[in-house]
Amino acid sequence: MSIAENVTTYLKKIAAGNCFGEPVTLVAATKTRTPEEINEAIAAGITDIGENKVQEFRDKFHLIKGGNRHFIGHLQTNKVKYLIGKTCLIHSLDRDELAAELSARSVRAGIMTDVLIEVNIGSELSKSGYSLAEAYPAYERLRTVQGLRVRGFMAMLPLSDDERLLASLADEMRALYDRARTQDENIVHLSMGMSGDWELCLAHGSNMIRLGTALFGERRYPNA
Ligand SMILES: *Cc1c(COP(=O)(O)O)cnc(C)c1O
Repeated sequence: MSIAENVTTYLKKIAAGNCFGEPVTLVAATKTRTPEEINEAIAAGITDIGENKVQEFRDKFHLIKGGNRHFIGHLQTNKVKYLIGKTCLIHSLDRDELAAELSARSVRAGIMTDVLIEVNIGSELSKSGYSLAEAYPAYERLRTVQGLRVRGFMAMLPLSDDERLLASLADEMRALYDRARTQDENIVHLSMGMSGDWELCLAHGSNMIRLGTALFGERRYPNA
């Protein structure tokens, strides 16, 4: 299947929305993909694209034709300056130190930066993000930070075959999202779901999924 065919297929699959009938945003996860591949996806109907690495984000920025630009990877504080004013949404706000840098740079540029609070829902050592217990207090703190606009939460479910575990983790994310959303109209995104678990995530209330392999095929790492 071509990239364009995959895009058409997946846009159709999510057209009915999530389990609550809410519209779902499909973000194409574009790490390692060429500008040509990304432009093919956009021509086929992809509206939102997400990069993982600041270097790739910068290298491809002007070669990609359109698309809302998300940043979805781990963000080093010293690279924030390269993203300010260029993203529609940063999914990976995972520590207060990063919030402080995003705030300072946004205020200086006279803009608001939209962010999601990343939650390490599986309590995995290999992943960053606030713990579930820390997430709501972090939201209450970060929503008052100048230059930042918290729009919701992001999580990556652990790799597991235990569907009941995954479902309960996804439900906890939705409950967190609902708790914030019911008193804050800025809260509109729950970014959760990748190629291997997007169906489960939509069945448990995610409204934004990030697909790489499903759209572009297996990743090719140079020199790997
Ligand atoms: C790579 C990546 C994805 C997409 O992963 P696939 O399994 O290829 O769909 C989603 N989110 C983040 C943060 C990623 O780094």
